[in-house]
Amino acid sequence: MKKIFALILAILMVASLAACGGSNDATTADDSKPELVMGTNAAFPPYEFYDEDGETIIGIDAEIAQAVADKLGMTLTIKDMEFDSLLTAVQSGAVDIVFAGLTVNEERKQSVDFSMTYATGVQVIIVKEDSEIATVDDLAGKTIGVQAGTTGDIYCTDEFGQENVKQFTNGALAVAALQNGQVDCVVIDNEPAKSFVASNDGLKILDTEYAVEDYAAAISKDNTELTAKVNEAMEALKADGTIDKILAKYIKAE
Ligand code: GLN
Repeated sequence: MKKIFALILAILMVASLAACGGSNDATTADDSKPELVMGTNAAFPPYEFYDEDGETIIGIDAEIAQAVADKLGMTLTIKDMEFDSLLTAVQSGAVDIVFAGLTVNEERKQSVDFSMTYATGVQVIIVKEDSEIATVDDLAGKTIGVQAGTTGDIYCTDEFGQENVKQFTNGALAVAALQNGQVDCVVIDNEPAKSFVASNDGLKILDTEYAVEDYAAAISKDNTELTAKVNEAMEALKADGTIDKILAKYIKAE
């Protein structure tokens, strides 16, 4: 009796696995779905970075964009490019949407539309553990490393002069320059800062918030229909807890 029961159970399991496989096999259906092309700079952990395989872009933005695409019945494709070409790419239609830990500001609002905001970013200052820099005011006259085109770059250039600011194509290169003494500090968003400090010895983040900002996705001003659809999807993902769950997965409470 037991044996027969086990056999029936086994048959049922195989049958249900087959059924699952069938319904998951959406490769052909995917081809017919419209594409949502996202531009990002995948050197900004935990918002966007490469998985250990070195090929897949993962992170908060990748997951939120995937959830938005799923809601809209679209297939997500992610294009990795330099941070300072992202807004041009979305304006020219090379990508449909930018998710890049992108800060909302007035200047950018002139050239693109922003979605609802989904996270907060804080510009912080990374220094060597034995640095004499302790506050924002101490940055005067120092050489500051930034990621080109970011809000950190804009603030520091405005406040301390272009001659004191060294631009790098990504945060990791700016941090490497801090390690080898080319710059005295790096101004960058807090979450990537934490990740860079964790993976580099002898660095610390100053306990001072240089600027608090909102992150949102950017879409072309010519594509108001997509902006409306993305906002609707993001609002639903906020309401049902998906966005908060994704944030909590990558940002551990202190
Ligand atoms: N939040 C910053 C900005 O929008 C940096 C974003 C980034 O480097 N990916 O300028």
